[in-house]
Amino acid sequence: MPQYFTGPPKCPKCKKVAEYDITSDDNCKGNEGRPYYKCNDGECTYPFFVFDDERGIVGTNPPCDCGRPTRRVISTVEQGLLKSSFFCATGVCRPNDLRNLHDKFHRDDLQELIQKGHV
Ligand SMILES: [Zn+2]
Ligand SMILES: [Zn+2]
Repeated sequence: MPQYFTGPPKCPKCKKVAEYDITSDDNCKGNEGRPYYKCNDGECTYPFFVFDDERGIVGTNPPCDCGRPTRRVISTVEQGLLKSSFFCATGVCRPNDLRNLHDKFHRDDLQELIQKGHV
């Protein structure tokens, strides 16, 4: 899976360089083993977190308010249904409007969506 960033992004709030890691545990949203950047500054109040792969970034996504592409991510699990939301692919924006543009699908379909790179 190709990386999304060419170098570590900076936290939009505290401007410190975000730290790189790989998700380990399966949080039942299909996100295990994904590279990500996160602001690890203990005093920063902004929960900067962004995946560093190209999963969920497809041309049919609505653009972010900032004009950049969005990434579709599984956000919540409700009664066996998974809900996805769109987030700024760079992680610097937290567009509330886009969060309402979501859809629900069955857990059985998750692997196929991951393989297609849709989430
Ligand atoms: Zn920060
Ligand atoms: Zn944005």
